[in-house]
Amino acid sequence: MRRLTDDEMAEIWRHMDDPSWVASDYAREIGVDQSLINHHRRRMREQGWSSRIYWVPCSVCGELAIQRSPGIKTAAHPACRIARTRRNLKAKQDRRKERGITSTEDVRRWREQNPDRNREFRRKDLERVKAKFKTLPDEQRNEIIDKLHAYDSEQQAATQKDANNHGSLWTADEDAIVIERINDPASDVARQLGRTMWSVRGRRVTLRKRGLIDD
Ligand SMILES: [Zn+2]
Repeated sequence: MRRLTDDEMAEIWRHMDDPSWVASDYAREIGVDQSLINHHRRRMREQGWSSRIYWVPCSVCGELAIQRSPGIKTAAHPACRIARTRRNLKAKQDRRKERGITSTEDVRRWREQNPDRNREFRRKDLERVKAKFKTLPDEQRNEIIDKLHAYDSEQQAATQKDANNHGSLWTADEDAIVIERINDPASDVARQLGRTMWSVRGRRVTLRKRGLIDD
């Protein structure tokens, strides 16, 4: 369950004595479980509410900005965030240029030559996406889940149609390909092996359990 933001806590605090305010509506609006709101209301009733905030220089304009943590080096005002994103993207491009990466082909080569760092980057990306997903309202989450399901059935049907190796025992050569291509979509690996998408996913689970795939 995610933490509430200072703004959300303030909103709850503002309505502590408002009989027309419905906690479950607000929970739905901000995409959290109602029990989380009830928990904070109870605590506020018992102990009041104060929030610990820090004034930290904005990394874009240099003026002070409110932050939850004192050590943050990339603080930015809401209005400065676009500039911050642009700056970060520019910095990323500059780092790439320094390493001589100017095309997607270069990126592919870099990934091949730096498998450990690439895996680390991918893991962090995935964590970011997961954290973001958790904060979305139910409606948006359901939409994404529906799209993933649609993608799955589409790819499963497509790979099933061409699967000429379906149901046969997995060979060591095939396992080697599954392990080597762990970062590729299962449907692509399935096409190479003449198997279905779900059988490749299943094999990944098996190989992971045996300790042959490590993320
Ligand atoms: Zn600023």
